[in-house]
Amino acid sequence: MGQKNSRGFVEMKNLNRCPICNSKKIKWRYQNWGKNLKISKKKFNLFKCLRCKVIFINPSPKEKELVSFYPKKDYYSLGKIDRGRKANFKVKLSKIYFGNGNFFEKILFSPFVFLVRGTKVKRGMKILDVGSGSGQFLYEMKKLGLETYGLEPGNFNKSEAKKDNLKIERNSLEKTKYKKNSFDIITLNHVLEHLNRPYEALSRVKGLLREDGILIIGIPNSRSLAHFIFGKNWYQLDTPRHLFNYSPKNIKYLLERAGLKVIKKRFNSRPSQFVVSLRYLLGFNKKFEKILDIIFLPLTWIVNAMKVGDQIEVWCEKV
Ligand SMILES: [Zn+2]
Repeated sequence: MGQKNSRGFVEMKNLNRCPICNSKKIKWRYQNWGKNLKISKKKFNLFKCLRCKVIFINPSPKEKELVSFYPKKDYYSLGKIDRGRKANFKVKLSKIYFGNGNFFEKILFSPFVFLVRGTKVKRGMKILDVGSGSGQFLYEMKKLGLETYGLEPGNFNKSEAKKDNLKIERNSLEKTKYKKNSFDIITLNHVLEHLNRPYEALSRVKGLLREDGILIIGIPNSRSLAHFIFGKNWYQLDTPRHLFNYSPKNIKYLLERAGLKVIKKRFNSRPSQFVVSLRYLLGFNKKFEKILDIIFLPLTWIVNAMKVGDQIEVWCEKV
């Protein structure tokens, strides 16, 4: 491990041990560059731990360099909140699956359930979305009657969050002013893989959670068919923004180390695992993606049912 700087970021040196399970059995897998945003063609070395199977960048980029791999404009979190048809559909799905939808509605809409995330909710519950961006998810949760809070260390569209009074604090997990034991639900959706000290982050999140609260984590799954087929063209490697790529087994290990118990998990991958990865492999035009998304939808349902989809959602509670 390296030196801790003023913002709590540990500059990694070349690691000779797995940062998750501490095993010495780590192996170089391949070099990769950031095909998703194409900010730079600089290549990074990806290693795999032979014990816990986590994939990690080694050495990890320095903080300043890593920041330069996030665009100043047009990143997912910076935009406007969608309050249109797509968002309304997701609110409807959320009401069915996390509110009081009946059995038949649940069956009818099951092909689309991968579009929404959450858990059983009651009006007035307090939810914190870590890495909330401008608050798209919080906007949808507010429609279910929840009291919404967000934490976003980077830039976000403040006026958008204000319109719906989503209460987003621009801060890091380390310095947040939110009180301990105060949230019923905390979500980290595709956040953990970006953090270079995941154990510390999870310990802090655990502290913010009420004793009977639920933590929901969404991450890419490296033990997936898409990663197996496409290798370094698997788009969720997202080099170098994803410092780690987890699997159901090593995320469980990491959560347990942080004092959290997995109570449920589901595979909620999308057609993009095949479509975007295929584009990186073959180099076809992006405009074909929409039609390919439909073609690959049945395979997406199959890999999720077979537990080899490239995205998982894990529910946990305090031990
Ligand atoms: Zn390991």
